[in-house]
Amino acid sequence: MPPSRPALCDQCQQQPATVFLTQCIIGGGTIQRQLCPACAAPIIESFPPTPLDLPTDQVTGWLDQIIDEPTKELPKEVTLPETITVEELAAVLHVKTFRVIAALIHQHLFSYAKKSLSFEVAARVCQRLGVKAHRLD
Ligand SMILES: [Zn+2]
Repeated sequence: MPPSRPALCDQCQQQPATVFLTQCIIGGGTIQRQLCPACAAPIIESFPPTPLDLPTDQVTGWLDQIIDEPTKELPKEVTLPETITVEELAAVLHVKTFRVIAALIHQHLFSYAKKSLSFEVAARVCQRLGVKAHRLD
């Protein structure tokens, strides 16, 4: 019996594939891809925020506590570009990155520090924190 070899990455055809992705196609269907970590990283980075299942009341209450933690230096208004990362938005709002992530989870969006947000999503985070967001001209 020949020794079983690990499957090779779909993209570079050189490294063993250790990351398995299922991509949904708009209009229906999915594509299965097997990739090495190096080829998978930019694809994972490009994913839009993932809708989450509805958080339970307990989770929502816990998120509210994080989001509504009293902060003195929260600005009244901010001006945001067309896209902004989670950590940049946190810096603009003078809050911890996790607080922005919590506000996104509250909107059923999974995110992380380096994730880019559209103005609309960022503005909803601001609104949730009681900050008015203006679009940068
Ligand atoms: Zn690869």
